[in-house]
Amino acid sequence: MHRGEAATSPIELDLPDESATMCLGRRLAGLAAVGDVIALWGDLGAGKTTLARGFITGLPDPEGGSSDEEIPSPTFSLVQIYMREPANVWHADLYRIERPEEVLELGLEEALAEGILLIEWPERMGYFLPRERLDVTIEFVTGKEGRKVRLNAGPGWHGRLYEVPSGE
Ligand code: ADP
Ligand code: MG
Repeated sequence: MHRGEAATSPIELDLPDESATMCLGRRLAGLAAVGDVIALWGDLGAGKTTLARGFITGLPDPEGGSSDEEIPSPTFSLVQIYMREPANVWHADLYRIERPEEVLELGLEEALAEGILLIEWPERMGYFLPRERLDVTIEFVTGKEGRKVRLNAGPGWHGRLYEVPSGE
């Protein structure tokens, strides 16, 4: 095993209930920075929007908006933008997109330049899906209520998600 290999292996966690999914979203929000892309993979009802809600409510609103602000699923609007610190959050749901080219009309480049982008149904973006990103894959657990989640980080996330051993 070569040096650094451990840092690229995915992190797997149990999410026993909805609040665990929200909590993971809040924790990721605490690590996020401008230009981040977080791809939320998982079937319908897996918990992608729930995680995004935790993420968005986990960041301070510079205008001091109420913390119980509604975070609707962007299934029909495709994108919702939230004013937050340290960066605004673009929450996209690409389920209804039929061809990858359609994402070019959504103005997501602005999110890449100055915001944080959360994407549900990232597979719809095809080759437009940014390569440097954090993949969050939520899966159902057979016979149980909860979910499992796998975090797979691009290099830009390694120093944040994993403890970097001293001296490296
Ligand atoms: P998606 O956006 O992936 O379609 P949602 O976030 O809308 O899914 O969640 C679908 C349902 O799953 C909601 O009722 C939500 O409360 C529930 N849910 C979310 N996370 C969990 C979990 N870890 N365990 C059980 N239910 C969950
Ligand atoms: Mg959703």
